Amino acid sequence: MKKDVLGLLISAFGLIISLVPTLIYINFADSPAFYFLNEQVLPSIPLILFMAIVGVPITIVGVTIFRRGIREMMEELSESTAGAIEGGRLSANKSVEVAVKRSAEVSGTNFERPPTKSDTPNRSKYLIVSSGTELICQNCSSAMPLGARVCSRCRSPFPIAEDEEEACPVCRCYLTDAKRLGDEIIVCNFCFSELRLQGNTLKGLSL
Ligand SMILES: [Zn+2]
Ligand SMILES: [Zn+2]
Repeated sequence: MKKDVLGLLISAFGLIISLVPTLIYINFADSPAFYFLNEQVLPSIPLILFMAIVGVPITIVGVTIFRRGIREMMEELSESTAGAIEGGRLSANKSVEVAVKRSAEVSGTNFERPPTKSDTPNRSKYLIVSSGTELICQNCSSAMPLGARVCSRCRSPFPIAEDEEEACPVCRCYLTDAKRLGDEIIVCNFCFSELRLQGNTLKGLSL
């Protein structure tokens, strides 16, 4: 039996022992019970007084047990709540881990897949056949790193194209001075990349 129920029963029992004889004594005067309660169980102590005295400690014991039972119940409850919270936290962590793993897998496949057309400069009309590694100044023939805007020696600018479509996909310079190498291949005048026109012809290029 649970302590709270047991405590309630004991304290109720104690209350009954203390109070019921008194109630009977008050309400049923001159009844057989009244006289029975008036019997002295101990010298100068009638049964009613004896029962009232005995009922009090029983009630106190019952209340104490009841309180202890309630306290234990509260502790159990808080423990199980804490457990539930802890469990929830763990499962939340787990699901976050799973989500991270999953996203890592997804991004991993993204990184691992071979570069597609969208990864290469696709606005240019030209496909890179061979890629140059430096820019050659048209004025002084100095070699400059790719991405240089002016020659650091003679200060002459490289003609960076505003329109990517008309530019060398490697060095971004205008291809107006590009040399033609065969029917479909042109060579950038600045970075010497070999380029092939995407599509059909080299028409419209002033070569
Ligand atoms: Zn120069
Ligand atoms: Zn170029």
